[in-house]
Amino acid sequence: TSPIRIGIVGYGNLGRGVEAAVAKNPDMRLAGIYTRRDPAQLQPLHAATPVHAMDSLLSHRGQLDVLILCGGSKDDLPRQAPELAAHFNLIDSFDTHARIPEHFAKVDQAAQGGRCTALISAGWDPGMFSINRLMGEALLPDGATYTFWGKGLSQGHSDAIRRVEGVAGGVQYTIPVEEAVNQVRSGVRPELSTRDKHQRECYVVLEAGADAELVRRTIVEMPHYFDQYDTTVHFISAEELARDHAAMPHGGFVIRSGNTSARNKQVIEYRLQLDSNPEFTASVLVAYARAVHRMAQAGQHGCKTVFDVAPGLLSPKSADQLRAELL
Ligand code: NAP
Repeated sequence: TSPIRIGIVGYGNLGRGVEAAVAKNPDMRLAGIYTRRDPAQLQPLHAATPVHAMDSLLSHRGQLDVLILCGGSKDDLPRQAPELAAHFNLIDSFDTHARIPEHFAKVDQAAQGGRCTALISAGWDPGMFSINRLMGEALLPDGATYTFWGKGLSQGHSDAIRRVEGVAGGVQYTIPVEEAVNQVRSGVRPELSTRDKHQRECYVVLEAGADAELVRRTIVEMPHYFDQYDTTVHFISAEELARDHAAMPHGGFVIRSGNTSARNKQVIEYRLQLDSNPEFTASVLVAYARAVHRMAQAGQHGCKTVFDVAPGLLSPKSADQLRAELL
């Protein structure tokens, strides 16, 4: 069978991750990168990867099996996914949890109309963590689910501290509180507040002449972002920021603890420890792109989520092979 032809739409961190991930999957081929910027200015990881302007996407329809949308959840995906789902099979990593139902409805309408298959909100959260929350609830109905994130770099919180007056640069890490994690793992089902579960650690470069104490207070008291957490602010130099904080690590745990009888507790844990959030997210998207291709070929059109995909569809192995090797 011929390789699945993938198109990358948007070339930021996630787009680069997808380029790297496709190269690790021999049953796929990267047909091209599509960007809203001048294609000549983009430098793909592999010099031979074709880069095209977004305008040419529709005319390449016959050369692409699945598009992997790598735009931002805030402004790009809400527009691009419904537009493109009328013409292409696609997948996105839309991660604004509260707006997923709305995003689903728009993409579903477009995909049904175009007889395309569009899978939204893949990645790790939403994505692999969502599946593990669902499994935990289904397998242990008498129980509680806990999601912890980190240690990881939060893009949104890093952006928020960079907007504080007097801040020249900075990053924010979300860190699970160890005591809370241990309590959850023991199966006692604690009631945990936001502050009990995570703490926030900021590394900040000050602008010349900035008031460090004022900057610290502005950060730790920032509504929604920091005021509900214990936040520590470390001041560092621009060199230290560039040297020690350029990576994008992330991860976390989904834990379900429950009782199957009065005397027996059961604990399920799924853990991710990621050197690179975008590269891992991209790897998940690429595996789900394979499933999207197969579902489209089977005529399963409309909008889908990770909940609708049978695990076997993610694997390049045949159902026979999976039964023999992994079952
Ligand atoms: P990003 O680097 O900011 O890229 C987003 C878009 O911005 C790109 O597609 C690109 O579009 C444009 N862009 C990138 N670099 C640019 C530059 N130097 N100048 C101008 N435009 C540029 O964002 P990202 O880190 O790849 O993340 C994308 C999304 O992934 C996030 O919004 C998040 O929602 C999602 N995500 C989901 C999960 C999950 O678990 N579900 C995990 C991680 C991330 P053009 O090429 O068209 O210009």
